[in-house]
Amino acid sequence: SADKERANNVAKIKVVVRKRPLNKKEIAKKEEDIITIELNSNSLTVHETKLKVDLTEYVEKHEFVFDAVLNEGVPNDEVYSETVEPIVPLIFHKTKATCFAYGQTGSGKTYTMQPLPLEASQDILRLMHHTYRNQGFQLFVSFFEIYGGKLFDLLNDRKKLCMREDGKQQVCIVGLQEYRVSNVETIKELIEKGNATRSTGTTGANEESSRSHAILQLCIKRSADGSESKPARLVGKLSFIDLAGSERGADTTDNDKQTRMEGAEINKSLLALKECIRALDNDQGHIPFRGSKLTEVLRDSFVGDSRTVMISCISPSSGSCEHTLNTLRYADRVK
Ligand code: ADP
Ligand code: MG
Repeated sequence: SADKERANNVAKIKVVVRKRPLNKKEIAKKEEDIITIELNSNSLTVHETKLKVDLTEYVEKHEFVFDAVLNEGVPNDEVYSETVEPIVPLIFHKTKATCFAYGQTGSGKTYTMQPLPLEASQDILRLMHHTYRNQGFQLFVSFFEIYGGKLFDLLNDRKKLCMREDGKQQVCIVGLQEYRVSNVETIKELIEKGNATRSTGTTGANEESSRSHAILQLCIKRSADGSESKPARLVGKLSFIDLAGSERGADTTDNDKQTRMEGAEINKSLLALKECIRALDNDQGHIPFRGSKLTEVLRDSFVGDSRTVMISCISPSSGSCEHTLNTLRYADRVK
């Protein structure tokens, strides 16, 4: 059918890089933009300044090619059409899809991620009201975070949650609030509420939220006969994951024990995630979910008809060169 054909045309894994503009702080510090983008070939080059033994400077170039590279002028709605939009119709046909934002703190993960579920739910609701009118589809939203290897409900006062595996490759997060939604305005309010509930600790919002993974899920459900009276079962799922700052995985030598433990957990989860996505691409039977809480929570999204989009966010500045190279190498290895 046309639907099936369209599904086959949507890549199983897509890796996209988004470069943000230099910010005021970077400009004030006279940092330079060291990233050039070649749109025709989807390639990106990092111009790294290095020192020779005699302390003269030279530039080393690192070139990467991705499925798409998004320049600093690209607006959020174009990010949506490049990444999630083609996947949305598939989740009415049992697809489970996941979109990740990866990168160092301040690279634009949250800026990139926040509008995507809104755009997606707008399209989902449109499909429910037109193409799939009167077929009993229902849309649900949930939003939680993984912090230090533990789960907290962002739509229910950070209530601590636990996960259960039912042996049938279904993940059940016990007690997670799911809101049935029928308009974009409500979804917007829920997302804002959830974001305000993210870990902020004592040191300020970005600092602490950079140590957690925030997971927003849009679930499509439907009862067996498509009627409202019967219990609804999961059809498809779209997950949006604003990952912990990638540089936090290196916090493993910090003086503070708590920070070290969180760093180790983040490091473990980002490595496990990479391995899971790689395993997907190779169509290996065995996917190493058990490496971390993050991948365990996502295990039902990695089996069956799944789609994965990785948006790697980078700062253009010379001061972020090392983190940027780490982010690009990670993205490179995912595919
Ligand atoms: P992260 O979530 O990765 O820590 P943020 O999304 O909070 O980073 O972005 C850091 C700052 O940079 C924010 O003030 C954000 O508004 C700004 N920013 C990020 N990406 C862009 C972009 N593509 N265009 C304009 N401003 C951006
Ligand atoms: Mg953020």
